[in-house]
Amino acid sequence: MKRIYLDNAATTPLSACVAAAMAPYMEAGEDAPFGNANSLHDVGRKAFSALEDARMSVSRALGAQRPDEIVFTSGATEADNAALVGLALAAREKARLKGRHINGRVLMSRIEHDAVLHASKMLKALGFSVGFVSNDGSGRVSVDALEAAMEEETVLVSIMAANNEIGTVQSVADLAAVAHRHGALFHTDAVQALGKIPVHLREWDVDAASFSAHKVGGPKGVGVLYLKAGTPFMPYLAGGGQERGMRSGTQNVPGIVGCAAAIKNAVDNQPSFAAKACKMRDRLYEELAACKGVKPSVSVPADSSDFLPHIVNVCVRGHESQTLILQLDLRGFCVSGGSACSSGSLDPSHVLSAIGIERNLAQGSLRVSFGEFTQEEDVDAFLNAFKEVIR
Ligand code: PLP
Repeated sequence: MKRIYLDNAATTPLSACVAAAMAPYMEAGEDAPFGNANSLHDVGRKAFSALEDARMSVSRALGAQRPDEIVFTSGATEADNAALVGLALAAREKARLKGRHINGRVLMSRIEHDAVLHASKMLKALGFSVGFVSNDGSGRVSVDALEAAMEEETVLVSIMAANNEIGTVQSVADLAAVAHRHGALFHTDAVQALGKIPVHLREWDVDAASFSAHKVGGPKGVGVLYLKAGTPFMPYLAGGGQERGMRSGTQNVPGIVGCAAAIKNAVDNQPSFAAKACKMRDRLYEELAACKGVKPSVSVPADSSDFLPHIVNVCVRGHESQTLILQLDLRGFCVSGGSACSSGSLDPSHVLSAIGIERNLAQGSLRVSFGEFTQEEDVDAFLNAFKEVIR
């Protein structure tokens, strides 16, 4: 049975050119650059040089101002946590040094990834209050909604560039401008935006952003925290002071080399990928919406750039996500649901709840996400299998 992988928002296969770029750093030969990038000798210097080339490449691809704004992490979960805690603590400290003794407040949207949402527990333990900005039925946060939610003690706003379940794209630059007008810092989780819509950090004018390599053909366990030059930040990990003290720990040089290669590919190929994926998205939505009992979770107009081109999310009335996923899996299709399948819980996804989808319907959610290798025929084959399953 042929397997058709349509879960690229969860992870992607390692691209061949990324694997080739990483290979020399995983060898053990006499001339191999396997060294610790902080060692002074030749092997260490070779690793250091690869590390700094990777930093330069990522900085250019993402439209940063300077390479030292790029901090390599163990993935976007770490980057999100480090940004939320590190920026909030540093901003509060800065205010206190100026004689403003505030507890500090952090604002986020209700459709953030758990890596941001659950960091709120840590923030509360550190004395911050956490607030939520309202969104519309597509998950979109308007400038007015953010304006209304800003309070005097707000030190940080975190709103994702694009949502991983329903694909909603936010107006990052406009939202960042609101936060800045109120004297707050702005962080965006741009994991799903990378390679799918244009990402330009200087144009967005955000203070921090998170990225993950494995969503764009890179290795798992590597990511990027962008920290705009001059942004107050209290490092999350203490240790040997690597990454200019922003993230201690011996750098994962093979992973970082792979991360840089994957990010460059994703950015270079973004326009062509988006054009191809958008057509498949529009057709899949149209055909699924025509099936009895199937409701698109968001209303995505054809050709719309307000939603990611590679994500389709529908709810199937009278069915449970888990059953649909397993039945499709039996037929060779890998897709995912919006609900917390991994924990065995039947709770509907927090994202679908936040956009007002009723519980019963949300329990039958299904997410299909395209990648570099997805073809029109895969969409046709998926549609046939899906129709058979719901029949
Ligand atoms: N943020 C978003 C929007 C994601 O989709 C993911 C991946 O699921 C993450 C953060 C976490 O990324 P990582 O797997 O690199 O920790």
